[in-house]
Amino acid sequence: MSHCQLCAREIKSKLGKIAHHGYTRKQGWQSKSCNGARGLPYEQSRDLIPAEIQRILQWIGFQEVKIKMMEEDKAPVYHKKYLGFNKGFKDEVLKPSDAYYKMYKESSLNMLKSELKSANMQKDWLQERYNKWRLMSNGNI
Ligand SMILES: [Zn+2]
Repeated sequence: MSHCQLCAREIKSKLGKIAHHGYTRKQGWQSKSCNGARGLPYEQSRDLIPAEIQRILQWIGFQEVKIKMMEEDKAPVYHKKYLGFNKGFKDEVLKPSDAYYKMYKESSLNMLKSELKSANMQKDWLQERYNKWRLMSNGNI
């Protein structure tokens, strides 16, 4: 058995390295494919975890700036404008004087804050995973 260092899923390891795999749950700080791919399984190493924590921390920093700017009305508030059948939606920037500005601002802020919260949880989880790591295999998996 081999598990990815970063997402803890059981992934086949080809020639000792974790095979390519994606995240099932997509959040802002996650890329389409898991950064644990092509790394050593968690049973053998925790070497990818510190860089992943740094990446999340950096993302958290950007996210906090974004939230602050939006709270101070310094970041654009978008809404999806419906263009009609077969044309779909287009992002439109709202002005503070627009009727639905406050509502869209609140819902954007809620989304940013909930992403921030899960990024923090992910970071803590990875830190714990790093701290409790023990070598479980010497390569014969
Ligand atoms: Zn993974």
